[in-house]
Amino acid sequence: MSALNLEERPLKLHFIPYPAAGHMIPLCDIATLFASRGHHVTIITTPSNAQTLLPLQNSIPHLHLHTVLFPSRQVGLPPGVENLSSVNDLHNSCRVHHATMLLRTPIAQFVERDPPDCIVADFLFPWVDDVANKLRIPRLAFNGFSLFTICAMESLRGRAHGSEYVSPVVRGLPHRITMNATPPKELTEFIEPLLETEMKSHGLIVNNFAELDGEEYIHHYEKTTGHRAWHLGPASLICRTAHERGQKSAVDVHHCLSWLNSKRDNSVLYICFGSLCHFPDKQLYEIASGVEASGHEFIWVVPEKKGKEEESEEEKEKWMPKGFEKKGMIIRGWAPQVVILGHPAIGAFLTHCGWNSTVEAVSAGVPMITWPVHDEQFYNEKLITEVRGIGVEVGAEEWSLIGYAERSRLVGRDRIEKAVGRLMDGGDEAARIRRCAREYAKEAAQAVQEGGSSQKNLTALIDDLKHLRDHPPGHFFFLSQTFGAGAICK
Ligand code: UDP
Repeated sequence: MSALNLEERPLKLHFIPYPAAGHMIPLCDIATLFASRGHHVTIITTPSNAQTLLPLQNSIPHLHLHTVLFPSRQVGLPPGVENLSSVNDLHNSCRVHHATMLLRTPIAQFVERDPPDCIVADFLFPWVDDVANKLRIPRLAFNGFSLFTICAMESLRGRAHGSEYVSPVVRGLPHRITMNATPPKELTEFIEPLLETEMKSHGLIVNNFAELDGEEYIHHYEKTTGHRAWHLGPASLICRTAHERGQKSAVDVHHCLSWLNSKRDNSVLYICFGSLCHFPDKQLYEIASGVEASGHEFIWVVPEKKGKEEESEEEKEKWMPKGFEKKGMIIRGWAPQVVILGHPAIGAFLTHCGWNSTVEAVSAGVPMITWPVHDEQFYNEKLITEVRGIGVEVGAEEWSLIGYAERSRLVGRDRIEKAVGRLMDGGDEAARIRRCAREYAKEAAQAVQEGGSSQKNLTALIDDLKHLRDHPPGHFFFLSQTFGAGAICK
């Protein structure tokens, strides 16, 4: 085969997304980018997760699903519960996570039978490193964080634990950041080894556009870690099936849009805390009271309540002040978030700062009211408010291990009312933040256009992977991937 033919041969890529909405949705959207350029993509997942990906498989040629059985019985989960976003307690979350670790054998067998040119896997599957090294193929890692957040985590590594420190200062970054809370020890102990394994990969795929993380953070990351990052997002702007992204919507999308069509521009507050966060009733009551006092209309996504069987509908809804529901729209269950955020009536987003929600709001030019709860969300808050100036903080100070953890401090209605007012009541500050949010939305749209930064990164990454395939580096390449470049140079 001539060199030209070799280069033209499509790549064969296997994607292994982690079964949680915030991980799976963006990585599968990114998989479609490769398939849309004619490369052969296989997404490896489990049967019930595959159901949510059928719209992708049906609309994108060259994209296929391969399923491996989810070991429900082995871990004690009911059939069909195969995703972290389908459970709402720690016990069952641990079971889901345990089950995903048991997927190693069937996935490795599948990959080894007919190896791809590259594996793209979530960092929550660190064992993929061994599989890729054994097959001598490159592995790209994905963790669903922004690069800013990874830089901040790296800077705090080993320094901030539990309640030992109050408001840790993140040093050594292009900006001096003081966190509003301290990460729980269990979280850093869980994530740090995963980040270390991630560094051994060929590179990192980021669901963001380079302009939002900024040259300064990309440079900082590459300089301090020696690792390469490719910004290919925002995933929500790539996705062709926004109305059925993730799960089936609990509300009729057309009904939702026609309700929004009847509202003035920037007059509706959108509230959603992602797929993993469940607040207790008393916190929901504070939110409702704060929003009601602000006087603004809203769309509020409240997770479906799995109340006790003997509870009546009325008891399940006792968190809501009387008459509240008439003042806006409440969606119980899954909302078509990207569609809602894209409507001009949405004036602000009260968000838990999950990275996907953040970058979706940025893409839609919607300013944010930040209320981080768990995982890496407190870092995202700083990027939104202090670094990029596209949101205001509600004043959350409790960093939980998981979204449904018991919480000792409530965010009171006064803080909520004040934060909503800062963005929704007009004035210079709101106008400045809104202008800035719109500028980033323009840059996000440009990034995914022909000639935009994410498109160029995709081309560069594809060229790089083709080069690796067609000119495989010898043994030393894979030793350096396994032990780090330094180990080879010494
Ligand atoms: N999402 C949605 N509808 C919902 C809740 C969440 O479409 O009712 C999507 C949201 O658009 C985002 C993802 O689920 O793409 C949640 O990811 P994020 O990182 O924001 O938060 P997580 O759920 O991981 O905490």
